[in-house]
Amino acid sequence: MENRRSLIAGNWKMFKTSSDAIDTVKEIVRRLKQVIDIDIMIAPPFISISSVAYIAGQSNIAIGAQNLFWEKEGAYTGEISAPMLLSVGCRYVIIGHSERRQYFGETDETVNKKMRAAINYDLTPILCIGESEKERESKDTFSVLDKQVKKGLKGFSKENLKKLVLAYEPIWAIGTGKTATSNQAQEVHRFLRLLLEKNFGNMLAESTRIIYGGSVKPDNINELMAMDDVDGALVGGASLSAETFCKIVNFKR
Ligand code: PEP
Repeated sequence: MENRRSLIAGNWKMFKTSSDAIDTVKEIVRRLKQVIDIDIMIAPPFISISSVAYIAGQSNIAIGAQNLFWEKEGAYTGEISAPMLLSVGCRYVIIGHSERRQYFGETDETVNKKMRAAINYDLTPILCIGESEKERESKDTFSVLDKQVKKGLKGFSKENLKKLVLAYEPIWAIGTGKTATSNQAQEVHRFLRLLLEKNFGNMLAESTRIIYGGSVKPDNINELMAMDDVDGALVGGASLSAETFCKIVNFKR
């Protein structure tokens, strides 16, 4: 089996002023200096990316964006492009987060265009997918995920997807305090790996990191990371405190 490098990613959403972001990242860099065996990423709000990336510098903390627009430049008021992100030291981008799908009209089609932009500019895309509570209750979880993956990755070859990270984020577990059990997460991650295998072959399926998101905390990370197909976590609320985020990064291994 492929040896996948774990990824713990923090999504700060619309939290922290620029000075709060600077203080938090300084603390994270200081506390995690010794961690070299996994990848760590922080996605601050757009306005803080530049200063946070400057502070993270050559450290082991990579910086990501929470969104991007697919055009390179133009009259698109309020939007940010892939080359702009690259220019301030961004290496990752979160695409299709459920909050963007829910509140900002993001669809599988716009997600696909954003994936294209990220891939064209060699950013590492973290493609978020997940089912609602209603969809889980009506046993539609797998069909919903199948559609989100196929449409989100439509038109790409396995060569395009070498950097892909899939984030399974059940909507019912985001910011709610409800976590999928480690067995529920494993079941879905296994399904997603087989789906990747069916569509892009065994090599890509085995090398792609599939991370879990939804109320990840220091007290549930060990159990989640012990699962074969859970390769990391996308952490929202618990990434806002340097102390809590660092505890998650220091999960048992
Ligand atoms: C997220 O924002 O991707 C997330 C999983 O949030 P939380 O950890 O707060 O549930």
